[in-house]
Amino acid sequence: MQANVDAQELAKFSEQAHRWWDPESEFRPLHQINPLRLDWIDEIANLRGKTVLDIGCGGGILSESMARRAAQVTGIDLATKPLGVARLHALEAGVSNLEYREIAAEALAAERPAAYDVVTCMEMLEHVPTPASIVQACSRLVRPGGWVFFSTLNRNAKAFALAIVGAEYLLRMLPRGTHEYARFIRPSELARWARDQGLVVQSSRGMEYNPLAQRYRLSSDTGVNYLVACRKPG
Ligand code: SAH
Repeated sequence: MQANVDAQELAKFSEQAHRWWDPESEFRPLHQINPLRLDWIDEIANLRGKTVLDIGCGGGILSESMARRAAQVTGIDLATKPLGVARLHALEAGVSNLEYREIAAEALAAERPAAYDVVTCMEMLEHVPTPASIVQACSRLVRPGGWVFFSTLNRNAKAFALAIVGAEYLLRMLPRGTHEYARFIRPSELARWARDQGLVVQSSRGMEYNPLAQRYRLSSDTGVNYLVACRKPG
């Protein structure tokens, strides 16, 4: 089986890994959106006591925050350095109901099918060659009745203007080349991949950025950044 991974993407995230927890670095947007997505996930899936898998966890911003909500969290990624940063941060923060593994989603799905109450896969699908294969793995990993959450970037003129021209060139929130437009995913495409794998889309939200206030908020506009909640029927 050929790995569903882009080595250049992993190298990029590894190179930036030491800045992952710096809220003023290129990871600032992840720090800013984290409370919003965490609350949304917790509201829908009630994290306390749940077993949670965070796919493409990077330096662990979301993983660690879910563990702090008393979930038993496993974070997986294929980039070595971000995982090292994630482990060290959890250790220093004294968060112990959290483990990290370097393994592909597809491989973990073969090893631990239906093992998780909740699966999250945030800001990751737009960095892999075959995102539908990740969606399939998510569906295998979640137990019947469990929840799968995705977030990614929509593909349209507005998303190009805001997520690439705005964020990478004008506001310089992200380094140039962080995102590749062709890999952005329309909500309808993500919904089709989910349905094809037996997941039912239950809810979605946009994450809108206000450049003047320099803040994100959840909204009904899924035109640029968006979140999707899916359920595996029980
Ligand atoms: N999900 C985290 C990090 C997003 S950055 C958050 O939202 O806070 C994207 C992450 O996806 C990086 O850590 C990168 O290493 C990871 N990634 C990219 N391709 C991957 C793959 N094929 N398998 C697992 N992780 C991958």
